[in-house]
Amino acid sequence: MQERAFRNRKIEFVWKAAVTEILDVSRGKVTGVVLADTGTGAGRTIDCGAVFVAIGHLPNTELFEGRLAMQGGYIVPREPGRSFTSLDGVFVAGDCADHVYRQAVTAAGMGCQAAIDAERWLASLE
Ligand SMILES: Cc1cc2nc3c(=O)[nH]c(=O)nc-3n(C[C@H](O)[C@H](O)[C@H](O)COP(=O)(O)OP(=O)(O)OC[C@H]3O[C@@H](n4cnc5c(N)ncnc54)[C@H](O)[C@@H]3O)c2cc1C
Repeated sequence: MQERAFRNRKIEFVWKAAVTEILDVSRGKVTGVVLADTGTGAGRTIDCGAVFVAIGHLPNTELFEGRLAMQGGYIVPREPGRSFTSLDGVFVAGDCADHVYRQAVTAAGMGCQAAIDAERWLASLE
């Protein structure tokens, strides 16, 4: 994805900068963004008509490294399509286990599956 963006001549890259303000949202539109240089703090304005926040391409799973079976940063369920992980009593759902769809509705469905698996697993311990 990054390589494709680099090859697109219409895209200008601005490195080491943070968006500090989106202009004219209170007037119901976007006319630009204010950027702050992350090194010097110097600000500058770039004219634009829209803003899209493109984040979330890496699963936030470092916490589970060495504790759960993982592949490429994603937690691998014990069986495909189930929420059981390599560790008894730990269930997985959503983007940390799904490198294909990564959508709110699929994550919510997986959350429901994990809740049912967890409830049944707890009941089986009685
Ligand atoms: C820019 C963007 C646009 C998107 N647009 C769409 C869209 O239009 N339609 C759509 O269906 N999906 C969209 N998605 C995807 C959707 O947001 C995700 O698929 C969904 O949120 C995944 O849900 P989740 O519960 O798996 O993870 P998340 O929603 O990421 O929830 C994980 C939670 O865990 C918390 N957390 C992380 N680490 C810890 C920790 N150590 N301890 C405690 N809590 C922790 C986080 O703070 C977060 O609240 C978009 C995602 C992005 C980034």
